[in-house]
Amino acid sequence: MTRLVPCILWGAGVAGWYAIRYPHEARARRTPVRRVNDRLWEAVLLGISSIGLLVVPLAWAVTGWPGAADYAISPVQVAAGALVFAGALRLFARTHRDLGKNWSAALKVRENHRLVTGGVYARVRHPMYAAFWLWAFAQALLLPNLVAGGVGLAGFGTLYFLRVGREERLMLGMFGDEYRAYMARTGRLIPRRRLGRPERP
Ligand code: SAH
Repeated sequence: MTRLVPCILWGAGVAGWYAIRYPHEARARRTPVRRVNDRLWEAVLLGISSIGLLVVPLAWAVTGWPGAADYAISPVQVAAGALVFAGALRLFARTHRDLGKNWSAALKVRENHRLVTGGVYARVRHPMYAAFWLWAFAQALLLPNLVAGGVGLAGFGTLYFLRVGREERLMLGMFGDEYRAYMARTGRLIPRRRLGRPERP
């Protein structure tokens, strides 16, 4: 299979992601911020993630660099990548809908920030990050180049592992016991198995 089809599918996925995000970004600019955490560090992490999910794959799609890492891809793998990307976008749209005005690209607390524990947030604490992980996996499946494909996992993985603990500490500081109880019944990315379910009489 040529590079054209994977590149078009990847580009469509990224365009779909931006179409979902854009209205939230516009609204976020109008929603006052109460607290910003680690502004510079957050900018660095967002930059690293963007290099992996956007810049390097785009550079490969446009220039073919680094061609030495190209490999022949099967149509089945491309189809699997497209499906995973579609799943990522679906989850992404749901997380934005559920998080509403409480969303920020960086670590921020907004005026009237509310703890969201419903919808797609009912069983996992970081469904939007789960959607980005799916994007990164989709990219690795879809792009027939080891570097352009794999760099999304490295880029987003860096942001995820260096942010998620700090984000949870920020939420604990804001919401205290409410967040502690929420943590006890949810998983970070994968729903927690329900333990201690009461026995039937
Ligand atoms: N980690 C979440 C949210 C990502 S957006 C996810 O993966 O779905 C990041 C912003 O969301 C942070 O600035 C934080 O203030 C806010 N946030 C994270 N979890 C939240 C929750 N359960 N309710 C409300 N805001 C939340």
